[in-house]
Amino acid sequence: MKSRTKVVVIGGGIAGCSTLYHLTQEGWSDVVLIERDELTSGTTWHSAAQVTNFGMNQTMVGLKSHSVALYKKLRDDPEYPVGYHHGDGGIRLANTEAQMQGYRHFASMARGMGVEYEVIDAQECARRHPLISTDNLLGGLWDGEDGDIDPAQLSQALAFHARKAGAEVYRHTNVTSLTQHRDDTWTVETDEGSIDADIVVNACGYRVNEVGAMMGVHHPVASMEHQYFITEDIPGIVEAGHRMPLLRCPISDYYSRQEKNGLLVGFYEQDCKTWGMDGISPNFANDLCPDDLDRVMDVLEGAFERMPALTEVGIKRVVNGPITYTIDGAPLVGQIPGKRNAFCIIGLRAGVGEGGGHGWLLAQQIVHGEAQYDTWCIDPRRFTGHTNVELTALKAIEDYQNEFRFHFPHEHRPAGRGAKTTPITPIMEAEGAEFTVVNGWERVEYIKPTPDFHPSLSFDFDEAFDVIAAEVRNVQENVGLCEVNGFNRFEITGTDRHVFLDRMFCGNVTKRDGRVGLGYLLNHFGMVKGEATIANIPASDRGPARAWYGSAAASEFHDMDWLRAHMSADEDVQIRSITNDQTILVLAGPKSRDVLSACSRGDWSKAAFPWLSVRECFIGFAPATVMGVSFSGELAYEIHVPNASLYAAYTALREAGKAHDLKLFGARAVESMRMEKGFLHWKADLITEFDPFETALDRFVKLDKPDFIGRDALLKRKEAGPTKKFVSLEISTDKTPALGGASLMQEGAVVGTITSGDWGHRIGKNLAYAFVDVSVSEVGTAMQLDLCGDIVDAQVIAAGPYDPEFARTRS
Ligand SMILES: Cc1cc2nc3c(=O)[nH]c(=O)nc-3n(C[C@H](O)[C@H](O)[C@H](O)COP(=O)(O)OP(=O)(O)OC[C@H]3O[C@@H](n4cnc5c(N)ncnc54)[C@H](O)[C@@H]3O)c2cc1C
Repeated sequence: MKSRTKVVVIGGGIAGCSTLYHLTQEGWSDVVLIERDELTSGTTWHSAAQVTNFGMNQTMVGLKSHSVALYKKLRDDPEYPVGYHHGDGGIRLANTEAQMQGYRHFASMARGMGVEYEVIDAQECARRHPLISTDNLLGGLWDGEDGDIDPAQLSQALAFHARKAGAEVYRHTNVTSLTQHRDDTWTVETDEGSIDADIVVNACGYRVNEVGAMMGVHHPVASMEHQYFITEDIPGIVEAGHRMPLLRCPISDYYSRQEKNGLLVGFYEQDCKTWGMDGISPNFANDLCPDDLDRVMDVLEGAFERMPALTEVGIKRVVNGPITYTIDGAPLVGQIPGKRNAFCIIGLRAGVGEGGGHGWLLAQQIVHGEAQYDTWCIDPRRFTGHTNVELTALKAIEDYQNEFRFHFPHEHRPAGRGAKTTPITPIMEAEGAEFTVVNGWERVEYIKPTPDFHPSLSFDFDEAFDVIAAEVRNVQENVGLCEVNGFNRFEITGTDRHVFLDRMFCGNVTKRDGRVGLGYLLNHFGMVKGEATIANIPASDRGPARAWYGSAAASEFHDMDWLRAHMSADEDVQIRSITNDQTILVLAGPKSRDVLSACSRGDWSKAAFPWLSVRECFIGFAPATVMGVSFSGELAYEIHVPNASLYAAYTALREAGKAHDLKLFGARAVESMRMEKGFLHWKADLITEFDPFETALDRFVKLDKPDFIGRDALLKRKEAGPTKKFVSLEISTDKTPALGGASLMQEGAVVGTITSGDWGHRIGKNLAYAFVDVSVSEVGTAMQLDLCGDIVDAQVIAAGPYDPEFARTRS
C-alpha cells in the first residue's frame, strides 16, 4: 500500500468503484480504493440490478441518463465487456387517474433533460408485457431505456478502468480508524497499515455508520431487509420471442424483470424489517439474511394476480439482503456536514442503476468543488441536526412500504412527524392548522375550515384553494399572523464581520446599524450558491454589535460549511447558529403597524421604523427583534423571538390583533403571495446551474466591487452572455399550477423549464417562474406548457405583477 494519496475511497461496492472511476475521468489519477473484503461483497453482488432512466426531478434524470450511457459504453468495451440488457423497456403501473397524472408530469419534466417517457393505457401495457392482466389497471409510464446489468461485472469494470488510469485498489484491507490533522488532511488506518490522504470518501454501504463513527459523524442512514425470488423458466417468456419489459407496481408493491427465461420478482412488503440497527457482525460479507417469504405474502398475491404465469412455475432461488435508506429516500452524495475534505456516497437504495451517475457528480464535486447539475436533492447537508438513525428507520419503513408510490404535491406522510416543534405548535394544532414539514419542522400550511378537512392528493389545485384565498385576502385587507419556524439564522460577530460578508456577497449588503439588506452568494464559477438577508444589530444588553444572517430553513449546514470554509485566520469573525433558538412570527397586512404598536412600546411609524429596518424591543414582555421586511408584498414585520418567550409574544400579538381582525395564515398563502411579488426560493429558483444575471438578479450584483467570491468567473460569464434567462409567466389555466420541472415548448421543441408555480390570489392569475432560452425571454413572448399532459398557453410577463412599485410594502 502506498503511504500517501490524494483521495481514499472507502468501500468497493458500486458506489466506491464508480467514484474511483470518475475521479480518474475528472483527471485525478493518484487515488485509492480500500475494500475490507472482495469488491462488491456488501450489497452490490446480490442486487437485482435494474437500471432505469426514471427520476422525479431533473438532477435524478440527468444522473441516471449518465449511468445508462456509461453502462452502454462499458457493455460495448471489448477489453472488459459488461453484461447489460439495455432497452428491454419498463412500465410503472397505475390504477388511479391521480397516478397517471403524476406520470404525465414526470414525462413533461424528463423531456427537458432530453429523455422521453411514454404514458400508455392498460391495453398497451399488456401488449408490451404479454404476461400481465389488465384487471384493476389504468395504464402506466413507459421508460424505453430500462434494463438490468451484471452488478459485479459493472463494478469490476469501473475498477479496471480506474486502475488503468492510475488508481490503486486494495482489497481485503479493513479501514479501522480515521484521524484528521490540523491542515484538514487525513490518516487512514487499516489492518494492513496506514495511508495519508487529502480527502476521504465514505462509500461503505450498510456499514456507513461504522466508518462515520471513525470521524465522529452520525449519518441518517438505516438498512432494511429486502427480498426477491427467481422463478424457473416461464413458457410465455420463451414464446414471446422478445425480452419482458421490467414492471414496477405501486398497486401491490413489487417489481419484476426477466432473469434467463424466468422472472425475478422483488417485494416491498408492509410487514417490513429494519436490519443491523444494533450493529453488524464483522463476518457479514458476501452474505445474505435468512429467507422469509412468509413476510411478503401480502404483496405476493398482487403479483400473482397481475402475472398469473407466476403461479404455474417453481421458485429457483430467494435472495434477502440489506438495502440502505435515508430520511427522504434519496441518497447522500457530497460533502459531509461540518467536515472538511470528507465526502460520502451513501444511503443508496437503487445504487446499481444510479451509481454511475452519483459517482460522476461526486467526483465533479471533489475535483471542481461543484457538479454540473445542482445536487441539492442528494446533498448530505439537506437534513440538519434532528436527523439520526432512529428517525431514519421510521422514515425508511414508511418509504419501503411506499416504494413506488411517489409523493404528491403537499403530501406529507405520517412517520417521524413532530421531529421539530416550537412552544406554539400545540396551539396552532388547536387552531386547526394543517402542517407541512420543512426540514423536520412542523410548519403551518393553512388553517383548516373543519377538523376533518383533507384535500385530495392531486397535481391540480386542490380543495384548499378557497381556504388559502381567504387567508391571503385577510392579509391584504387587514392583518395576518404566521409562524415561520426553522428559518436559518446565524449570528456573526467580530470587528471584521463586514469585511468578511463583503467577500461572501456579490453585491453591496448594508453595513449600517439598524438596517437590513438582501444579498446573494456565488460559488467560484460565478453561479448562485445562496441567498441571505443581513440585519445589522447594534450592541445592546443582549450582545455585542452583530450581523444576523438569515437564509432558507434547510440551509443551515450548507451555509455554515460555505461561510466557515471562507473565513480567514487573520480576521476577527465568529459565527454561531441560532436557528434552533429563535422563531419568527410574521405580522403582515395594512393593519400590522397598528397591531405592533398596540403590543410593543416605541415609535413604529414609517418615519421612525421604515422598511428594511431592524430593532430590538419587547412584544408585551417578550424580548424580540423586529425587522421591517416582507415576503408577502404587504406592510409586514418579521418578529424574531427566543423560543422560551414565543408563547408570550404570540399571546400578546393575538390579544393586540383582536381589534384589527388579525387571523392566522400559513405557508401556502405565503407561497401564493411571493409568486405575485417576484420573490425567489432557494433551490427551486436559485440553483448552481445559473449565474445571477441569468437568474435576473442583476440589481444585486456589483461587479465594481474589488473582490468577492466568484467575481472573476462571473466577469467571464458576463462577457460570454447568458445561456438561459429567468422569467415570470402567466399560465392560461385555472386547473393546475405550473409544476417545478415541467417543460415549456415552442413548436414542439423544449425552450424552458418551470422552477415554481402557484395561483396569485390577489391578482387572480396562475403564475410561474422558469428558466427559458434567451430567444424566448422577452415580455410578451408566447409559448406552451406541458402541464401533466395538458398543453396550455404561457406568456412571459414582467416580474412581480402585484404592487410593482412596492408602495404597500413601504407604506
Ligand atoms: C435484494 C436487493 C435488490 C436490489 N435491487 C436493486 C436494483 O434492482 N437496482 C438498483 O439500482 N439497486 C438495487 N438494490 C440496491 C443496490 O444493490 C445498492 O444500492 C447498492 O448495491 C449499494 O452499493 P454500495 O456501494 O453503496 O454498497 P455496498 O455494495 O454494500 O458496498 C460497500 C462496500 O464497503 C465495504 N466496506 C464497509 N466497511 C468498510 C471498511 N471499514 N473498510 C473497507 N471497506 C469497507 C464493504 O465491504 C462493501 O463492499 C438492491 C438491493 C437489494 C438488497
